[in-house]
Amino acid sequence: MKFSPMKSLIFFIFIFCAFAATKATAQSNLLYDIVLTGGRVIDPETKLDAVKNVGIINNRIAQITSDPIKGKQELNVTGLVVAPGFIDLHVHGRSNAEQEYQLHDGLTTALELEWGIEFLQQWYDSRKSKALINYGASVSWPFERCKAMDKYKDSVNNLYHTDLRGDWKIDHLFNAIRPSYTDTISAAETAQMFANIRASLAAGGIGIGVPIGYLPKTNPGEMFNVYRFAGELHALIFSHVREPNINSIQEAIADAALTGAPLHLVHINSMSLGNINTALDMIASAKQRGIDVSTELYPYTAASTLLQSAIFNDGWQERLGMDYNDLQWVATGERLTKQTFEAYRKTGGTVIMHLMQPAWIKTGIADPNTLIASDGMPYAPLAHPRTAGTFSRVLGKYVREEQVIDLTTAIEKMTLMPAKRLENIAPMMRYKGRIQVGADADITIFTPATVSDKASFDKGLAFSEGIEYVIVNGVVVLKNGKTVPGIFPGQPVYGKFKQ
Ligand SMILES: [Zn+2]
Repeated sequence: MKFSPMKSLIFFIFIFCAFAATKATAQSNLLYDIVLTGGRVIDPETKLDAVKNVGIINNRIAQITSDPIKGKQELNVTGLVVAPGFIDLHVHGRSNAEQEYQLHDGLTTALELEWGIEFLQQWYDSRKSKALINYGASVSWPFERCKAMDKYKDSVNNLYHTDLRGDWKIDHLFNAIRPSYTDTISAAETAQMFANIRASLAAGGIGIGVPIGYLPKTNPGEMFNVYRFAGELHALIFSHVREPNINSIQEAIADAALTGAPLHLVHINSMSLGNINTALDMIASAKQRGIDVSTELYPYTAASTLLQSAIFNDGWQERLGMDYNDLQWVATGERLTKQTFEAYRKTGGTVIMHLMQPAWIKTGIADPNTLIASDGMPYAPLAHPRTAGTFSRVLGKYVREEQVIDLTTAIEKMTLMPAKRLENIAPMMRYKGRIQVGADADITIFTPATVSDKASFDKGLAFSEGIEYVIVNGVVVLKNGKTVPGIFPGQPVYGKFKQ
């Protein structure tokens, strides 16, 4: 930014007035709606890390000061960390059953961006005034593709009226459109697919979910055209790459480089496996060359997906470097054999895949370009623990116990980095991920000495511990570690094409 002398003077006067106003406000008798007193306030953008009082009016942060301030509701948070609310770009739980676990893990915003959501307009409508935390989703390329195909379009529309009944469970919808995954798409249908994607972007979709890993036979030309479409619109693509290997990561980065499409690579840990160093090197190099690419990981050595998906097509043991016994069936917790694998693959269901090394996860967390995202699964008692514990696990295991990264860096990877990643595609994210005057009052308050994940592979889901308060849009929805019943302050997050 260049300032002329006159502009500099105006800027100085503006800053002075703002400062004077701040001082005046701090010392006035103004009664805030909520005041947080005595907490260690950490804001990764301004690098603030100090004991301050925070005043909230309506849904915004209105004051951050060392002076005493008064509120209608005052919470003494001495000894606790006051951080921006955690933002998760990657969840598959789309209802309050999962949101309550996310809330206890410190989340104030949870978005389904990898797969996207089917019937997006209706889903956004269905969540209005019912969500515990902020919600949103991308446009689902596999769904809009299926819906564009002559062979399926009637059955897809019937799906909403007859089968869905307000239940957006990902596995149900996944199965309903699965026959289309191996069909090629005609030119006319491709045009219809792009029209469908545009319509769902206009319904508020945050970019495009492109999980080609579930449609791995997709023609490279079709994929390139999807990127070209996204590049023209500057619509962010969220990609689960074609196969868990470096070639597939290169394909995604190449398509982004060739088309200008911004690209977010989901769960780099389970996509690169033992080659995570190479994958992270490629992402760093791409960024240095001005390619708009980002990535994320979850802090666990196991992955999780649907057993009926193409990921388990013939050759999976070689592709993934694992065997039957490395698969854990979520419905019962049992490890699979050749026989049970074949039986369950026919019925379908969720499986946990024990396939990564602890060192790979440490490497991913330590890398400056990764942000934290859970890939949280739909609720099931024995669902992958990342569904409930991702963010607390980073703070407990990787910050406090193993000191892989420091606390401020961890908070940045959970708040500012995801907010900044989205702000060009979902402008309302400019007000999130920050503890600053004017920012949304999405705030997570935790005990740094005890915060930890409690969900496990053996015992299943459990609320994380040490998250004491969560404030969503200026409403306290977790208090003294407990859900405040009967309030739903979660608001929709929409993409920039919303009409
Ligand atoms: Zn995935």
